[in-house]
Amino acid sequence: MTDPPALGIDLGTTNSVVAVVEGEQPETLVNSEGDRLTPSVVAISDAGERLVGAEAANQAVKNPAETVESVKRRMGDDVTFDLQGDEYLPEQVSAMILAKLRRDAAEYLGGESQRAVITVPAYFSEDQRQATKDAGAIAGFDEVAILSEPVAAAVAYGLHDEDVRTVAVVDLGGGTFDVSLIEQGSANDFHVEATAGDTDLGGDDWDRRLADWVHSQFEAEHGVRADDSPQAVQRLQEAAEEAKQRLSAQSETTINIPFFTQADGQPLHVDETLSRDQFEELTQSLVDRLEPPIEDVLDEAGMSQSEIDEVILVGGATRLPAVERRVERVLGQEPRRVLHSDEIVAHGAAIRAVDLTDSQSATLVQDVTPFDLGVETRHGRFEPVISRNTTVPATETKTFATSERNQTRLRLSIYQGNRPVARENRLLGHCVVSGLPPMPPGAIALDVSFSLRRDGTLDVSVSGPTGEIHEDVSVDDVSGLSDEEIERMRLEAEQHAREDQRQARLAKEKTRAEQLLSFVEHNLSQDRFPAPEQSALEEARVDLVDALDSAESPDEIEEYRNELERAIPRRHLGHGTDDD
Ligand code: AMP
Repeated sequence: MTDPPALGIDLGTTNSVVAVVEGEQPETLVNSEGDRLTPSVVAISDAGERLVGAEAANQAVKNPAETVESVKRRMGDDVTFDLQGDEYLPEQVSAMILAKLRRDAAEYLGGESQRAVITVPAYFSEDQRQATKDAGAIAGFDEVAILSEPVAAAVAYGLHDEDVRTVAVVDLGGGTFDVSLIEQGSANDFHVEATAGDTDLGGDDWDRRLADWVHSQFEAEHGVRADDSPQAVQRLQEAAEEAKQRLSAQSETTINIPFFTQADGQPLHVDETLSRDQFEELTQSLVDRLEPPIEDVLDEAGMSQSEIDEVILVGGATRLPAVERRVERVLGQEPRRVLHSDEIVAHGAAIRAVDLTDSQSATLVQDVTPFDLGVETRHGRFEPVISRNTTVPATETKTFATSERNQTRLRLSIYQGNRPVARENRLLGHCVVSGLPPMPPGAIALDVSFSLRRDGTLDVSVSGPTGEIHEDVSVDDVSGLSDEEIERMRLEAEQHAREDQRQARLAKEKTRAEQLLSFVEHNLSQDRFPAPEQSALEEARVDLVDALDSAESPDEIEEYRNELERAIPRRHLGHGTDDD
C-alpha cells in the first residue's frame, strides 16, 4: 500500500483546515463531524473528557476556565495553559488540534500521514515557526515544513503566470487581519516582500458589533438583558455570526432567538430585522481599520498601488461585501476571489506538500524574515546582521571589533527583533569566542556570519583575523523544544489518542451489549426460550449486566457479550427480529 499523502494544514486562530492533493487538484477533507472547518479550540469537559474542535467550541461559553481558544496567538510565548490541573505549553495545545486533524484525515485516507506542510502568518518569528513545527512533531508527524500563509494562497490561486510579478494578499480571518505583498521570481517562486496587519481585527468583531446591537434593541423593547446567562450570550453570538454571513448574500435578514430569556416568568424571544445597509453602518469603523495596514505594507515595500498586478482575497471574512469594496478602493483594482476563500491557504499547503513527498522537485517557495537578526554591541545596542524583509535563505557577514584592552574572550549575544536596544528584543542564544590574543581595544576584527535557513534555523559563525577562531552555533533548538521534550509530549499525545480510541470502543461495545440484552430480555419475558437453556441464559445475562455496570475495559464487555450469545439456542441466533 502506498503511504497516505502529506497533509496541507492551515492551523488558524479560529478555524483549521486540512487539504490533500490526491489527483490533480487540492481537496479539503471533512472532519469526523462532517465539517470542512475545525474550530481551533481545545477543552476538558465537566466529565474530564478532552474535547477538540466543534465539541470544544460548543461548550466554550459555559466552561471558559477549561477551554483554550486562539492558542495561535500564544505560539512561541513562554506561557502555559492550565486544564484541570495539568499545565500545557502552547505547542502542546496546538498539537492536540493537529492530532485531531491528522486522525480525522486518516479516516478518509486510510492511514495516518507522516508528513505535513503547516502554514503560519508571514510575520511569525523564528520562535513562533519553531513552536509550530514542534507542535507538528508532538502530534506525531515525522516531517513538518512551515509555509507562509500568503505564499500558500498565491500558490493555490495558481498565479504562476509570468506576467504576474507582485501580488497583494489580503487575509481577513475570524480573529486577525494580514496584508502581504509577495513577488514572483521565476515561475511559481514567491517571496514575501513586506507584511503588515492588525492582530486584533477579524470577523469575530463584526459578530460582536451585531450581537451588541441586537442585545440593545432587545433591552430597549423588554427592559431586560441576558448578560448573566452564558447560554443566552452564546446563542446570541452564534445568531449574530449567522446573520452576518447571510447579509453577505442578501440585503436584509431577521434574527430569531426563541426563549432568549425571561421576565416575570414570561419567556422573551429575540426577533429583529436588519438590513445590510444598517449592518454596514454599524461596522463602518471596523472596515476603516483595514486601511492603515494596507498603506503600511505599500510603504514598507516602497511601492504604489499601480505596481500591484493582482489582489487576492483570503479568509472567510473577506466575503463581507464592504470589506471587498474597501480593499478594491484602497488598492485600486478589483480583487480576485475564489469560492472557498477560507480553504485556499490549506490548498496551497497541500500543493506544497506534494513537493515534500517528491523531494526531486525542491520547494521554490521563499520567505522573508520579518525581524532583524543581530548581536548586542557596546552599551547594549542591537546591531542587525540580517535585516528584516531579507529573502530567506540568507547569509550576511558583518565585522565587529573587540572593545576592551587585552580582551581574550568575547561573548556574543544573538537577538531577534526590530528594537534598537538589544534586551528589548528576543534573545536567541550566545556564542563564545575565546583565545583571542591580548591587544589594544579595536585591534581585533571578527567576522560574524549569520546564515538563516528556510526552515527557520540560524547558524552563527565567528572567525578572527588568524582564521583560527571559529565558532558555530545553531540557534534552532534555543528557541524550540529539545528532542526529548518533543518525544515525551508526542508519547503523551499518542496516549491520549489511544485513550480516545479506547473510549470510542467502550461506547461501541456497551451499545452492542445493550442491544443483545434487550433482545434476550424481551424473549425471556415472552418465555420464548426452551426451558433447559433458560437458566444458563439467565446466568449469562446477569454477568453481562454486571459487566456493563462495572467494566472499564471494552474487552471485558465483549467477552461477556460473547458468552451470552453462545448461551442463546441456535435457532434464535440472528436476532434481528425477535418474532421467529
Ligand atoms: P477563517 O478564519 O478564514 O475561517 O474566517 C472565519 C471568519 O469568516 C468568521 O468570522 C466567519 O464568520 C467569517 N465568514 C465566513 N463566511 C462568511 C460570509 N459568507 N460572510 C461574512 N463572513 C463570513
